[in-house]
Amino acid sequence: MQTLTVKTDSTSYNIDIGSDILPDASFFDGYSNVFFLIDENVDKRHGQRIKNIYNQDDKYFFLSVKSGEGSKSFENFQNLANRILELGLDRKSALVACGGGVTGDLTGFLASTLMRGVDFIQIPTTLLAQVDSSVGGKTAINVSQGKNLVGSFYQPKHVFIDLDFLKTLSKRVLRSGYAEVLKYGLIYDSDFFDWLNQSATNSLVSPEMIDKNPDHLRLAIYRSCEIKAEIVSQDEKEKGIRALLNLGHTFGHAFEALCGYDGRVEHGEAVLLGMSMAARFSNRIGKLSSSSLADIQSHYETYNLPWHYSEHFDEEIKFDAESFLKTMYKDKKVAQGSLVLILLTEIGQAYTEHNVDIDALNLFLQEEFR
Ligand code: NAD
Ligand code: ZN
Repeated sequence: MQTLTVKTDSTSYNIDIGSDILPDASFFDGYSNVFFLIDENVDKRHGQRIKNIYNQDDKYFFLSVKSGEGSKSFENFQNLANRILELGLDRKSALVACGGGVTGDLTGFLASTLMRGVDFIQIPTTLLAQVDSSVGGKTAINVSQGKNLVGSFYQPKHVFIDLDFLKTLSKRVLRSGYAEVLKYGLIYDSDFFDWLNQSATNSLVSPEMIDKNPDHLRLAIYRSCEIKAEIVSQDEKEKGIRALLNLGHTFGHAFEALCGYDGRVEHGEAVLLGMSMAARFSNRIGKLSSSSLADIQSHYETYNLPWHYSEHFDEEIKFDAESFLKTMYKDKKVAQGSLVLILLTEIGQAYTEHNVDIDALNLFLQEEFR
């Protein structure tokens, strides 16, 4: 097992990474009641293993969270809040998120608001949640005006990254999580990108490769969390460098929003498409060299990642520059009406473009969606 420490202005906590590392019951000794919120698919495949650890005591409660983005709703928040309070939540209770980013974001928001804040523990079970959403303390639910618009910064007390969960992920969900791994290489660490490129990616994009190469997976998750921890420690509330973690996300969110979050594109798939667009646009405005762009494209091709939207979507879905740009403006990264984009200057180096040339972007989008 490896351990990392995340230090922020508000707190510090550990992330444990390894196989079969769920905390034993003694971890929860100081808590009066412990509420596990478990994603329904995780419950089906891993529920018994989890419940066996904690079934000695009636202070443990297990609540199922329906799979899918729809669970991050006000309605579900309210139902769960009522249930948890009825079951006896008090200030010495803890909430445990056991699932992907959906369960983590929802549970974190519940933990930050119930009783004005109770302890929160993360057991992320998707690659995306293990390398991204469980670290850094952003919690949120969705409203009709947009995704993640109601939420809080609320750091967990501990994160347990158990690699055994990943073996039951679908190829699609695993590959979607890889988007965020690749993101760390692109924005922060060209050696990490090279390592992913040369050797590691195969075991990160296909579940059947996990057993063949568990060390690659562990190292990739460790380095990803380390980079996220470094960035979050410098800028917990996203006033500066933390924004770089949004590489590909403003483009990506536009794909997600235009599809109505209906499952045609997973968050990570949208981020993969968004990062390729950010790279092409960076090159277009003269910030990223053509050889670096070619290196990124070749990585996508080698590992069968979607480089252009037409490789992901079937022919029935059409996007156009005008509505795409409009949707990009609705992203919450827009500050005072002006669009902000995370772009690349080289592999391993990103920056925040505050003065996006909208005419150039418009032209770029017209070509993308021609
Ligand atoms: P998810 O939570 O919807 O999980 C994806 C699918 O995998 C679901 O169907 C789920 O039931 C299933 N699943 C989860 N674990 C499994 C396992 N071990 N075996 C089999 N199936 C399993 O999706 P996600 O990609 O983990 O998270 C996406 C969410 O994370 C979005 O809502 C996004 O906004 C949020 N997010 C938050 C942050 C943050 O900083 N808080 C960062 C990135 C993304
Ligand atoms: Zn993301």
